[in-house]
Amino acid sequence: YAKELGGNQVQYFNSQIYAKIERRIKIEKHLRKALEKNEFILVYQPQVNLLVNQIVGFESLIRWESPELGRVSPLEFIPIAEETGLIYPIGKWVLREACSQNKSWQELGFPKVSMAVNLSSKQFYDQSLKEQINSILQETGLEPQYLELEITESMTMDVQVALTTLNSFRNMGLKIAMDDFGTGYSSLSYLKEFPIHHLKIDQSFVKDISVNPTNAAIVNTIIALARNLKLVVIAEGVENDDDLKILQEFNCDTVQGYLFSRPVEASEVPEIFDRFSCNRIANT
Ligand code: C2E
Ligand code: MG
Ligand code: MG
Ligand code: MG
Repeated sequence: YAKELGGNQVQYFNSQIYAKIERRIKIEKHLRKALEKNEFILVYQPQVNLLVNQIVGFESLIRWESPELGRVSPLEFIPIAEETGLIYPIGKWVLREACSQNKSWQELGFPKVSMAVNLSSKQFYDQSLKEQINSILQETGLEPQYLELEITESMTMDVQVALTTLNSFRNMGLKIAMDDFGTGYSSLSYLKEFPIHHLKIDQSFVKDISVNPTNAAIVNTIIALARNLKLVVIAEGVENDDDLKILQEFNCDTVQGYLFSRPVEASEVPEIFDRFSCNRIANT
């Protein structure tokens, strides 16, 4: 009986693994064609400064609507894009789309805000990234201070390379955000050396801070750390008023989350600007 059970379990695990591999192969196959078939869009989520109650930026987030697979989460396909190198063309498309969209809002007379773009590790270590960004800024006419690159702690493991790369971004006039802060292993002693502007507290810590004292303590500590390092804090994943209240008590600078807005398509962004009474400035 035990043997039979063991056998079934092995079979169960095999079929689980098989299903995973099959899904992986399918995604990779369709991902290869997704760019040329225009299956990606970007959605944008506002970042709201609590002191002035105004939008100070948007984060661009990629969406893939595959005719064959339906909607696939970036959490699932970005790692595959990384492994296969498909992230290079996809990442370039994201950068160009995000910059050109930001520029077009500026041309419509909306207040100038920053556009945050998530970088993957391979992009960050790509020697040609700097040139690529330069030419995208040229092409779109976006000034560099309105482009913000989001990196994660794991990308800075190679401290020397990270420092060099980040310094060259700073010299270009770009902004840098440390995303998902607290979930990786960053050396706090190097954090102060990196030319970073924003520290984004990961949503897993922000979640339920009004009822979870451990999370509240962590968030409070990260905010204090950011203050000392003269970094601006962005709390991610703010979903309700109770959590917002605590963040205000902790003097959190900026928040991003469903409470203010879900990520929306470009066509809905003007409404969001208007909602925050960032009315259009006459553009002449
Ligand atoms: P991230 O950069 O940390 O992005 C924040 C994620 O939290 C987004 O998920 C966003 O939709 C979600 N979010 C925002 N507010 C709330 C909230 O109040 N509650 C909850 N539960 N979630 C909230 P999304 O769009 O599914 O993206 C997941 C991850 O995929 C991103 O995490 C980022 O690491 C990656 N990603 C997305 N777009 C890109 C891209 O263009 N390039 C690269 N390399 N990675 C991307
Ligand atoms: Mg991000
Ligand atoms: Mg994040
Ligand atoms: Mg994340």
